[in-house]
Parts: sequence; C-alpha cells; structure tokens
Amino acid sequence: MTDTSTEVLVVGAGPTGLALGCELARRGITVRVVDGRDEPHRESRGKTLNAGGLAVLEQAGVADRIRGIGNPGLLFRKYFDGEQIEDSTVPGILFIGQWQIEEVLRRRLADLGGQVEYGARVAGIAQDGQGVTATLADGRRVHSEWLAGCDGGGSTVRRLLGIPFEGYTDEEQSMVVGDVRAPGLSRTFWHQWYTSDGAAMMLCPIPGTEVFQLQSSPERDAEGRALPPSAEGFRRLFDRHARMPGIRPADASWMSTWRVNVRMAGRLREGRAFLAGDAAHVHPIAGGLGMNTGLQDAAALARALSGETAPETYESERLAAAAHVLSDSTERMRRVLAATRTPGTGTEAGLG
Ligand SMILES: Cc1cc2nc3c(=O)[nH]c(=O)nc-3n(C[C@H](O)[C@H](O)[C@H](O)COP(=O)(O)OP(=O)(O)OC[C@H]3O[C@@H](n4cnc5c(N)ncnc54)[C@H](O)[C@@H]3O)c2cc1C
Repeated sequence: MTDTSTEVLVVGAGPTGLALGCELARRGITVRVVDGRDEPHRESRGKTLNAGGLAVLEQAGVADRIRGIGNPGLLFRKYFDGEQIEDSTVPGILFIGQWQIEEVLRRRLADLGGQVEYGARVAGIAQDGQGVTATLADGRRVHSEWLAGCDGGGSTVRRLLGIPFEGYTDEEQSMVVGDVRAPGLSRTFWHQWYTSDGAAMMLCPIPGTEVFQLQSSPERDAEGRALPPSAEGFRRLFDRHARMPGIRPADASWMSTWRVNVRMAGRLREGRAFLAGDAAHVHPIAGGLGMNTGLQDAAALARALSGETAPETYESERLAAAAHVLSDSTERMRRVLAATRTPGTGTEAGLG
C-alpha cells in the first residue's frame, strides 16, 4: 500500500471538517479531508445558521453563496390539537439544509486546491513527537503533522485516542426525523403541530428544494417503546397531527431516529491529534447550536494549527464553549418542551 503525507489530515467531511479544511487551505496549509462515506449525503439535518456560524462562513468566503440559498425570514406556523393558532418569526436565523452548506464548502475547498476523499474511513492512529500516521480501513496510510477528528458524535478518532465522552443519553426522549415531500403543503411556513398530550410533529421546508424536514414524536408499541421511522409511520403521524386530508408525506429520502445525548469529550487534544464538532460535544437540538458550534470549533482549530494561537488556547477556549453549549441547549430544550404545552408557542422559545 502506498503511504502519502499532508500537513493536516482532517477526518470527517461534515460541516466541521469542511470548514476546517477551507480555513487551513485559505492560510496556505496543505490539508486532506477524508470521509468514510462512499459519497456526499443529501440529508437536511442541521438546518439553522446563527450569527456565530455565519461569521465563520463569512471568513471562509462562502457566506454570500450560503445566503443566496438560505431562507432568512421563515414563518413558524403553530397548530394546537389540529387547530391553526399563531404565526411568528425569529430574526437573525438563516434556514438552509446541512447538505447544502456542505456542498458550498466542498466547492470552496476545491477552489482553494483541496478536495474531499470519500470511501476513506480512518481505522487506526499512531503518533510520535513528529507526526501522526492514520491507517485507513483499506490499509492505506496517511502521514501528517497534525490530525483533526471531525468525525461526528460516534467519533472513531475519539475512541482511538482514548478520550472519554462524558455525560448521559436520555432513552425516554426521542424523535423520528427525515426528509420528505408533501405536495400541497405550503412552503411559506415551518409547520409545527402540538397536542395537549405533549406530542409534536414539525415539517420545515428546505429552501430551493421540494423537501421538508420532518421531525416527530415517535409512534410507540403496546409497551410504550418508541418505534423506528418508516414511510408508512410518517404518513400515520402526519394524519394524526396535521389532520389535512389530501396531503401525504411522500418519497422519504432520509429517515433516522434522534435521541437526546448530553456529552462532551474529557479533553480535545492527545499529542498531535485534536477533536472538533460533534466528535467533541453532543447536546439537545433546541436552539440549533450543534453545527454552529462545530463551525466555530473549526475556525478556532485553524487558528491553532496555523500558529496564530497556541494549541492549549484551542483546548481551553473550546472546552469552555462545549460546556456552555451543553447547559445552554439543555435549558433551551426545557423551555421548548414547556412552550409546546401552550397553544401558539413552540420552538422559538429555544431560539434567539
Ligand atoms: C434532525 C436534526 C436537526 C438538527 N438541527 C440543527 C440545527 O438546526 N442547527 C445546528 O447547528 N445543528 C443542528 N443539528 C446538529 C448537526 O446536524 C450536527 O451538530 C452537525 O452535523 C455536526 O457536524 P460535524 O461535522 O461535527 O459532524 P457530522 O456532520 O456528523 O460529520 C461527521 C463526518 O465524519 C465522517 N466519519 C465518521 N467516522 C469516520 C471515520 N472513521 N473516518 C472518516 N470519516 C468518518 C462521517 O461520514 C461524516 O461525514 C441537527 C441534527 C439533527 C439530526
């Protein structure tokens, strides 16, 4: 197998890894971004950018392209027990699908002379005082001066480095999520249906597409266990919550289950390897802070790896930011859950 080398190896081509790749390439640092997937995904996932996330994208030179795709003034339409109650909006938030942000960052990285290699899953890491050697699942080896683990909540890099991921998983609270079309449903609104028993369903239009991101309380079996998502389940949930005969979710292109995890890495550095993004912290989605925090990690890590700040500064600053986002998003989640019990209020209680 051929060995290759680069100054920085970025593991993971989500928003964190791609933003880091752009920020390093922009500073003239040789960077390779590898991802275990066979190809880019088209999942809506993180769909809000706040001022902090946009500031990073501004520095990376892609904010105008992102603004050109995103929707800044989305109206939240709230229903309670099937009845339409209230429309409102939250200023300062740009709605856009995560895959759309990733696509723009990939293009920017290519313009800067970098590229993403798919089908390249990191399976081993060894390091000494001079550098890091990553072994890919197919046996190829990549030598680098520094390595950045931006490989998401289930981070292999974090595990290989022996860094604990401290916190808890709330098995009770879960959501089914996915991307669907819903012909006939207005795309002017983020539709949010709440019911007096505390259940919820939301359909948010992803700009420039026919797709809505669907988020819903799951269906449950006779023992109360949450059922996994399915196309048929999405239709049943929609009928139960929206009560709009004639409109049906269709063509589910992504389906997943989301659980509340509140965890952060015990440290962000082991020798010449670092963690950033979801690999370093996971937390409730209320407030839409996950991707935005990862983008800010990427900007801080690029400063550290280019010598503008000390590596220790990266670790202390971003560990403090991670601790803050865990408690902040947990409090936002509490506010949102309380708001959904009151007709006319909902997710905006966690934003801003
Ligand atoms: C339904 C939903 C809604 C959300 N809403 C918001 C929101 O509104 N705002 C917000 O800011 N965030 C939101 N989030 C959170 C957001 O999606 C995450 O915080 C974000 O994806 C984290 O980005 P990341 O780049 O750190 O990790 P990821 O996006 O998980 O990317 C990690 C990448 O690493 C790759 N990888 C994994 N293991 C390996 C390996 N061993 N070798 C090589 N590559 C590997 C994966 O293939 C993947 O491409 C939401 C999430 C969900 C599910």
